[in-house]
Amino acid sequence: MKCDPILYRAATPSLAVKPRLIRHMLLPPLIIALMIGLGYAGFCVSEHYGIRSLSENGQRQLELHARAVESEISKYTYLPSLLELETSVSTLLADPSPEHRQTVNDYLEGLNRRSRSRAIYVMDTTGRVVATSNWRDVDSYLGEDLSFRAYFQNAIRGQPGRFYGIGSTNGEPGYYLAHGLEEHGKIIGVAVVKIRLEALEERWQRARLEAFVSDENGIIILSSDPARRLKSVVPLSDETKEKLARSLQYYWFPLNELQPLARETLAEGVEKLTFPANSEVASDEEDISYLAQTRPLSDTPWNFTLLTPLQDLRREAINQGILVAVAFALVAFLLIAWNERRKVIATRLAAREALQEANNQLERRITERTTDLRASNERLKGQIRERRHAEETLRRAQDELVQAGKLAAIGQMSTSIAHELNQPLAALRTLSGNTVRFLERGQLDVASTNLNTINELIDRMGRITASLRSFARRGDDKGQASLGKAVDAALQLLSSRVESAHLQLHRDFKDVQVQIDQTRLEQILVNLIGNALDAMQAQPLPELWLEGDVFDGKYRLRVRDNGHGIDAEARKHLFEPFFTTKPGEQGLGLGLTLSASLAAATGGNLGVEHPVSGGTTFVLSLPLVSPTSAEPI
Ligand code: ADP
Repeated sequence: MKCDPILYRAATPSLAVKPRLIRHMLLPPLIIALMIGLGYAGFCVSEHYGIRSLSENGQRQLELHARAVESEISKYTYLPSLLELETSVSTLLADPSPEHRQTVNDYLEGLNRRSRSRAIYVMDTTGRVVATSNWRDVDSYLGEDLSFRAYFQNAIRGQPGRFYGIGSTNGEPGYYLAHGLEEHGKIIGVAVVKIRLEALEERWQRARLEAFVSDENGIIILSSDPARRLKSVVPLSDETKEKLARSLQYYWFPLNELQPLARETLAEGVEKLTFPANSEVASDEEDISYLAQTRPLSDTPWNFTLLTPLQDLRREAINQGILVAVAFALVAFLLIAWNERRKVIATRLAAREALQEANNQLERRITERTTDLRASNERLKGQIRERRHAEETLRRAQDELVQAGKLAAIGQMSTSIAHELNQPLAALRTLSGNTVRFLERGQLDVASTNLNTINELIDRMGRITASLRSFARRGDDKGQASLGKAVDAALQLLSSRVESAHLQLHRDFKDVQVQIDQTRLEQILVNLIGNALDAMQAQPLPELWLEGDVFDGKYRLRVRDNGHGIDAEARKHLFEPFFTTKPGEQGLGLGLTLSASLAAATGGNLGVEHPVSGGTTFVLSLPLVSPTSAEPI
């Protein structure tokens, strides 16, 4: 099958390769960029939803713990106002004698013990402590002037005094609740309860909660992490710092700012804070981010802030981002693989289609050719039929010609036949006459001899007529003949001419069986030998050579004479029908034509050679019946 060159023609290499090369070069960076982009997007989305979830959870925690702080503080709110009902206190404030003071001291001591507060004390209107629960201690407040304390100043004005501060006496932090003690609508002193809120911090630490409470100045007064305590969560101006230092509210602590690396407000009261790794608050080398949720505490100007670490969330978000990137890479890989496979399938399909098309074309061509061949086959069959018909006609014509040729030859020979028969007839007449006379004389021996001679003559005449009859008989293409017998029969037919010419005959052939009808072979030989005799008429010493040999599965008989030969012009027309050089009635011009066609009809042939020594040689080749059965004569 021939491939259609158009189907398999490759594109110009530079044009075919470049876009593919560019695509292959651009694809990996593009995939990597998309991986990074999608990974980052996955990270952001995961972080966003994680923060939202944490925030919701944190909100509940915030509420819970803020309530706990509020209840812890509110527990003591009523305590200072209780002292208003205590007559010993009002008595003391009216008459600050040592007995009255001791009574109140004892009362306050007992009350403090029962309420588990840090200290309870009473101040007069000047701000001096007149009685205190810790009167036994060395660092007792007794006699101390605390008029500078904001809680005193508020309470003396009839406002509730709420204050976080570090004790100026012992430097101990505490929450102060002050209440102005009224009598007959006039404030006669101030009752103060100092409480410690460290229990809250301990509770947070135990619960591994990160939280702090900042006061009205933005200073962290309670923190689960001690490092954050007394740090400001808002920037403080120098003026504020000085004012706070003067008030000794925070004793002598430096009030440093709790500075986050980054601060991002996510919602009302929700921030994202990042603290540096080397900061005091950080425990390891990584920057730490927190979700900071803040809520004001009721009844106080304070805020409660809950810190939720974001490391786990961040790690989770990074994992999610990596997962997204890997999933994308997998999808991209699958898509590329699918695309490559699709291309391979498309190429295979195209090749199959091209093959199918080529096949279809081939089949179409085969069908066309088959139709052509069938048509030409039909034509050939027709021609063969015509040829066979023509051959049949020719064969019939040849047969007719052979027959005509035989009759013509008989006609030609009629003179010599007549001469041949007349001689014995004359001899018979003479001999029979003589025999009658010898019988009358009683010479029986001589008569008997004459009668024997008569018999021989009659036999000879019979042979002549028998030859003529067999010569004139119609022959057959098939059959087999003995070469020796055929030569003898031909010479017998021509015996009178042979004898009169004093022909010298040379026989050098084998008596082989050849594939030809016996009569036809005799007919051919009569023609050839007859022609040779004609050609040697002027030859004083006529000689005829009959020489045979086996060649190519056929027996070749050469009939050579030393006659006048054949001139160049006659050689061209030798085998043409009715070509003759013989004068008048002597030649019919059919002998060679018929002989050649009889030889050809049995698969043999008849040719001519012109020896340089003179004369003519006719070469008759006939197929042998059995090449090995050739016997010498
Ligand atoms: P015909 O004998 O009737 O002429 P042939 O076909 O037998 O017809 O021969 C044709 C011619 O070939 C003869 O007229 C003769 O000129 C030539 N020819 C045939 N045999 C010989 C031969 N042996 N030698 C010379 N000429 C020959």
